[in-house]
Amino acid sequence: MTVRARFAPSPTGQVHIGNIRVAIYNWLFARHHGGQFLLRVEDTDRERSTAAAVSTLFQALDWLGLQPDEEPVYQSQRADRHREAAEQLMRSGHAYRARKGEDAGEVVLLRMPGEDMVFRDLVRGELRKAAADLPDFVLVRSNGTPVFHLANVVDDIDQGITHVIRGDDHVENTFRHLALYRALGAPAPAFAHLPMIVNAQGKPYSKRDGDAFVGDFRDKDILPEAIFNYLVLLGWAPGDDRELFTREELVPLFTLDRVHASAAQMDLRKLMSINQHHLARVPDAEFSATCAERLRAAGVPIDAAPADLRTAVFALMRPRLKACLEIVEQAAYFFDDAYPVDEKIRRKRLEAPEAPRLLAFLRGKLAEADFSAPVLTEALHQWPAEAGVAPGDLLATLRAAVTGRPGGPDLGEVLALLGRDTVLRRLDRLRA
Ligand code: GLU
Repeated sequence: MTVRARFAPSPTGQVHIGNIRVAIYNWLFARHHGGQFLLRVEDTDRERSTAAAVSTLFQALDWLGLQPDEEPVYQSQRADRHREAAEQLMRSGHAYRARKGEDAGEVVLLRMPGEDMVFRDLVRGELRKAAADLPDFVLVRSNGTPVFHLANVVDDIDQGITHVIRGDDHVENTFRHLALYRALGAPAPAFAHLPMIVNAQGKPYSKRDGDAFVGDFRDKDILPEAIFNYLVLLGWAPGDDRELFTREELVPLFTLDRVHASAAQMDLRKLMSINQHHLARVPDAEFSATCAERLRAAGVPIDAAPADLRTAVFALMRPRLKACLEIVEQAAYFFDDAYPVDEKIRRKRLEAPEAPRLLAFLRGKLAEADFSAPVLTEALHQWPAEAGVAPGDLLATLRAAVTGRPGGPDLGEVLALLGRDTVLRRLDRLRA
């Protein structure tokens, strides 16, 4: 049997990481088994599934390299086929028309078999629901629109889906879907329900908890390889403590029996650290081009800077950045006197009673110093004693004065790159 897995999202405008993780698991599962990964756009909600929402979905899939192996199927174009299936079910006695609930007209309902439903979920094991909790349910509304259950099952049958891998919010639906497969005389696919992604309180992870959409991460320069890697680990483990993978490395390893049944907690710090590892593999030229672009977009006059300063700053910052975008916050001061000054640092270091004396001391020393990194680094070890302050205090005051930042790369290196003129200008500006 050739595995045919699919991603069947309902486009709503933004693509939640929980959804894209479902796509990633389906993609890996299909690749692992040498099968096909398909896409079905469940766009029957005409208000939410706009052309823009569908295009956002495709962008997210493209960005992550999750292209389907066949043309996507659009559920909204298949309503006739869904109604035809309902007709077939009425002819075979599995469905009937009736008036129900608030719907003014007649709906079509599936006649449930009246027995307990059981299936073996590939992640959660045996799942069961009593017949009494499975009443007949609507397949087609009185206005002729097919409901989700009918469309979803008919489409899975027609697309030849062998494995349905989806979020565990669909477990309850699956009992109904199994009855539909049986009534339609089609073999049911295997099911694997993935645990939810939750926040620190164990509640479904949402935008309120932090970045939650694929686009948010893309905007922050998280690499698609890192999102892919991180989301795979959110609910799956390789069986050892390895955490860094390329997608090619994951294909042979990924099996559903290693998917955890319990909820997976979102951890943005871990995502950033995984991104840093993937960033280390990006070629220097690409890293530098992205950093330059981010600085430019933030209005930092990067193009006015000498090429060797740019090269040196990017090389210095490279091991410190978790994502390229961080260059703006952490290194704009190399290229621009108009850098922001951290408020806490301003108060603590630049407005301290000792500050004028320390700044004058530093001005005197730096006017005379040899501006090479090793010499400056060495001098920075001597000067605190001469100034009669703790080393940390002198260095933090100097760093605050010339960078506005609470921390950063080796201060000797920073001073050498800034150069004497810039350093003195910034000190004088503060002392004026
Ligand atoms: N459109 C449904 C969703 O996004 C489909 C679920 C499925 O069967 O995969 O939740």
